[in-house]
Amino acid sequence: MKIFKFGGASVKDASGVKNVASVLEKTGHENKLIIISAMGKTTNALEEVIKNYVEKSNELNASVQDVRKYHQQILLDLFKDEDHEVFFEVNAHFDDLEYFLRSNKSPNYNFVYDQIVSYGEIVSTTIVSHYFNYKGLKNTWLDVRNFIKTDVTYRDANVHWDQTELLITKKIEKNTLYVTQGFLGSDPNNFTTTLGREGSDYTAAIFAYCLGAESVTIWKDVPGVLNGDPRYFEDTILLNQISYREAIELAFYGASVIHPKTLQPLQRKEIPLFVKSFINPLLPGTSVSKGLDLEPHLPCYIIKKNQLLLSLSSLDFSFIMEEHISEIFSLFHQYKLKVNLIQNSAISFSVCIEDKFNNFNKVKEVLEKKFKISYNENVSLYTIRHFNVDASKVVETNKTVLLKQVSRETMQIITKE
Ligand code: ADP
Ligand code: ASP
Ligand code: MG
Repeated sequence: MKIFKFGGASVKDASGVKNVASVLEKTGHENKLIIISAMGKTTNALEEVIKNYVEKSNELNASVQDVRKYHQQILLDLFKDEDHEVFFEVNAHFDDLEYFLRSNKSPNYNFVYDQIVSYGEIVSTTIVSHYFNYKGLKNTWLDVRNFIKTDVTYRDANVHWDQTELLITKKIEKNTLYVTQGFLGSDPNNFTTTLGREGSDYTAAIFAYCLGAESVTIWKDVPGVLNGDPRYFEDTILLNQISYREAIELAFYGASVIHPKTLQPLQRKEIPLFVKSFINPLLPGTSVSKGLDLEPHLPCYIIKKNQLLLSLSSLDFSFIMEEHISEIFSLFHQYKLKVNLIQNSAISFSVCIEDKFNNFNKVKEVLEKKFKISYNENVSLYTIRHFNVDASKVVETNKTVLLKQVSRETMQIITKE
């Protein structure tokens, strides 16, 4: 079986959905499992709904209606007949969402987040699955929450692999075309969980691992993995073939074309990953597979925006030792601050961190009691794999460099915007 994953950009409007069907027509549609994300920027729009809900804003209803209308327009563009059952199903999902907003009693923000944001994927797959059937691509819609089981870490759930593998191998049959949701799972009580923003690539890897799939293809709005994000770097070059190792490094440092959790399950079973363009589906794109000789030998540029550079020093000029560092890190772990770079000297310790869950102020309060702290918000972390002198100039020119770190293959530079 082959696994295909189509992200939000590929299904952002009716012509996107039509294109996805045509990709399947061109590449074959039997024995495939298709993972689909929420349409366009729906997840962001649902985050707005969540914000309005939590803040008890007057905008709540309008924000829900915006999401409903956006999908209704796509339906009208795709299906001629407004009596088609897909209209009723999609409306019923939005009615369920509104019911949740009226009746929820849980004060747990992360739990509430997952119950709401999941409608993006539920609705997108409902539309795509019906459209495929409408076009003669007969398929079975699956609720992924019946397959991917997780713990209760809402917004960043951990997969219960044994249970998941059992459910997937028991119920997925060969020679069928399946359509299901990325990003979602369910906890032991069957409440919805999510695997972290942009987590649909990871869903593809979970299915591939459990099924021992032939390959995974993630379909993107770029020709494949380039040596830099074309939104930020000029004259980028396509990497035809890279090893799992190189891909893991690129994704880890923030090459957002592949979600970082995707590669490990694939590498463990040596399942090839293809990153291809949904605009030119017959082009080869990038292939990620086993092998040491596949590393690119040209500089690869990665940018992570919205970082925080935090420096701590002791109040009494004593050294920052293992004991302090372990305390600082357990605090970061507790508050889910992601550390992207570390540098220390005798009495000072600097980290570049990402504060996805808006916890920095709480952490700052604790740290201020023990350390002298200074920090810069909103800095960018550039990573250059396989750097050379010219490559570092590309990054440094016209920017204020706050910190630079060099290892054998990798240069990292923090700049103020
Ligand atoms: P999806 O539709 O699956 O969510 P994403 O938008 O998350 O897709 O990923 C595709 C985007 O990743 C591209 O549009 C591009 O801007 C960005 N990107 C970041 N790094 C790279 C890279 N090294 N090569 C190609 N694209 C990259
Ligand atoms: N829809 C989710 C998000 O935007 C998951 C994904 O697209 O991968 O984060
Ligand atoms: Mg995405």
